[in-house]
Amino acid sequence: MTELPSPAAEAAALLDRLGVPRAAWTGGDLIATSPITGEVIGRPFAATPAAAAAAIATAEAAFRAWRKVPAPRRGEFVRLLGEELRAAKAELGRLVTLEAGKILSEGLGEVQEMIDICDFAVGLSRQLYGLTIATERARHRMMESWHPAGVVGVISAFNFPVAVWAWNAALAFVCGDAVVWKPSEKTPLTALAVQALVGRAAARFGAVPEGLSALLLGGREVGSVLVDSPAIPVLSATGSTAMGRAVASRVAARFGRAILELGGNNGAIVAPSADLDLVVRATAFAAMGTAGQRCTTLRRLIVHEAVADALLDRLRHAYRSVAIGDPRRPGTLVGPLIDAAAGAAMTAALAAARADGGVVTGGEAVAGPGGTYRRPALAEMPAQTAIVRQETFAPILHVMRYRAFEDAIAIHNGVPQGLSSSIFTNDLREAELFLSAQGSDCGIANVNIGPSGAEIGGAFGGEKETGGGRESGSDAWKAYMRRATNTVNYGRDLPLAQGVSFDVA
Ligand code: NAD
Repeated sequence: MTELPSPAAEAAALLDRLGVPRAAWTGGDLIATSPITGEVIGRPFAATPAAAAAAIATAEAAFRAWRKVPAPRRGEFVRLLGEELRAAKAELGRLVTLEAGKILSEGLGEVQEMIDICDFAVGLSRQLYGLTIATERARHRMMESWHPAGVVGVISAFNFPVAVWAWNAALAFVCGDAVVWKPSEKTPLTALAVQALVGRAAARFGAVPEGLSALLLGGREVGSVLVDSPAIPVLSATGSTAMGRAVASRVAARFGRAILELGGNNGAIVAPSADLDLVVRATAFAAMGTAGQRCTTLRRLIVHEAVADALLDRLRHAYRSVAIGDPRRPGTLVGPLIDAAAGAAMTAALAAARADGGVVTGGEAVAGPGGTYRRPALAEMPAQTAIVRQETFAPILHVMRYRAFEDAIAIHNGVPQGLSSSIFTNDLREAELFLSAQGSDCGIANVNIGPSGAEIGGAFGGEKETGGGRESGSDAWKAYMRRATNTVNYGRDLPLAQGVSFDVA
């Protein structure tokens, strides 16, 4: 096997090519490591609370200037950003692989997602429309207008280190907002690279107000500044349900708007009529892809007893044979977990599954170039026990059997999270019931594809402990704007609504 360069050497070369000055990621107090080998790949600087407050104040001023720019012109800035991302896709995608540990095609896919949302936002910049509404009063017109919300705070998770920012920022910029971003402390270098590309797009655009796109590196103490700042009317927070619980009440206490994108515990029902070839392929990607570290990762398979043995035989084979190792190598499908703590959480969850009567295959440590490498695990469970009901951010697929379709839906919905879901069936009645109000209770419900790998055109997000936020496509842009209802009187009378009379002499 050919020797690959060290992640540190590769990251340095990529950051140079992406235009990130060495002074920004050497000699600082934050430590960036690569999960591929566990080695340190950069030492950027954490923002102090004072620097964070100053960035928010500059962003406020930027917002006041940016809201005056016509939305299609704002779209031109995002178009240029999309061009920069296209030009830098190979470098940024590889940096995502180095810093987050996902296989190269997924690193590149993450950058493609950024490009796609930029394209979407450019079109949207000419489509920020409201309604004209029938009014009960003669010679009046009623309509709604959408205005920029202000400074949008973005807190993001390690597992989509750059795409989540783009889902928020591309929309926020065309909506007329400024953006202050606090990325995961585990992935600061990709954030610096994105910020450098924003700088290039801004230089080409020519008149982007200073601080329109700010980056604050650091841990939750830096995120807390965004959470508590009354200057941030919209806070988009992506991460664990524990984080959302800590953040949501504080944003609510200051009457801010929170877009919460939290943990998932995604299930798929496999009905007797399912095409098992599709199920095996979809399950392999959805449950083992990204080493089980997607919010939409498939964690629960609810299988009809008539097909369970046949399916499990095939899944065990797929789990035994999947290629695990350095995510930069062609052919690798499962890379490292983000860190040793994630490995320990996986071990503990599998021990809990066994204690609940589960039969576990896989999950063992696999030799790699130094990081935390685990074989994805299948856990055949006698019931949906407490450990199955919680999200363990690792490649564990819990398999449960069902007999009656209604029971399958009850098991499916019987968890606190509500992000993504699937059914595999060729029975139209089952498929439609799953998509109906009596079916899946998730924000995403699919038929004959897995729960993972959403496109940006649809609204993304989930219910219950997933937090209820929506990002990306459809009309998710409305969360980044404020709505005003306007009534215009073009007559000489002053009729009051509901027939109220109030005539002064
Ligand atoms: P995490 O909750 O540990 O951290 C996420 C971000 O929140 C980080 O930037 C962190 O610094 C910040 N943070 C944590 N506590 C905070 C606090 N009290 N105040 C302010 N900021 C705080 O999550 P993670 O381990 O980076 O990511 C994995 C989790 O994210 C999983 O639960 C996964 O399902 C979820 N996730 C959800 C989505 C979605 O769209 N629903 C997408 C990606 C990841």
